[in-house]
Amino acid sequence: MKVLLHEMNWTEAKKYFERNDIAILPVGSNEQHGPQNPLGTDHLIAKAIAEETARRTNVLCLQVIPFGVSSHHKQFWGTIYISPEIFKNYVKAVCLALSYYGTTKIVIVNGHGGNLGALKELARELREKGIFVSVFQWWSAASKLLPNLFAPEERSHAGAEETSVNLILHPHIVDMGKAVDEELRKHVVYVEGLELPLDTVDYTSSGVFEGSTAASAEKGKKVFEAVVKELVKHVELLKEAEIGDLVQKPRV
Ligand SMILES: [Zn+2]
Repeated sequence: MKVLLHEMNWTEAKKYFERNDIAILPVGSNEQHGPQNPLGTDHLIAKAIAEETARRTNVLCLQVIPFGVSSHHKQFWGTIYISPEIFKNYVKAVCLALSYYGTTKIVIVNGHGGNLGALKELARELREKGIFVSVFQWWSAASKLLPNLFAPEERSHAGAEETSVNLILHPHIVDMGKAVDEELRKHVVYVEGLELPLDTVDYTSSGVFEGSTAASAEKGKKVFEAVVKELVKHVELLKEAEIGDLVQKPRV
């Protein structure tokens, strides 16, 4: 069975939508990921996790939305950033188009942490309209499922964990010869608990947070398998769930 929407013709899509009320939508970003990783890292990983989950569950998967909320990376060349508002409204329009065909359960596979604020707002808005949106972030799942696979300083942006997943999915566009470990700079007014409106370039010259040289395809395979397995569980639960149990409750 085909599961990728863009590979179906409209009669196949009709058949799917008439029998199912669930779809998977990957979203990401196009932004710097250190000297060793491709700019597409966040949307390429989200796409791969979403498509593999779709194959294992027979749930429809849409094309990945490649641009996200990334202005904090813009000093590094090639980062294509859009505002949280434009991002939210674009993803919302895609979800509403899905709902026109009866899809009321949408699993967003988010590859970029900077998108999360907009996606959380969107999920709340759509739940009020009877559409249930869940947001899956692979690195949050990985740190719980595989707590000892990486040191904490290897689990952030462009670090060893993310680089490892790139190494298993598309090694031909990773250049490990350029991988670095760079200790993050502390801002002059930094104290614990402080939130500052800083950009990536304020913390690092390479774009890597913080250790990336310990990356390997072997570790990447473990992460990919663990997070897909976890997401499959969620999709199967959601398939069986009644929409009435998922959407906003009426007044008590
Ligand atoms: Zn990333």
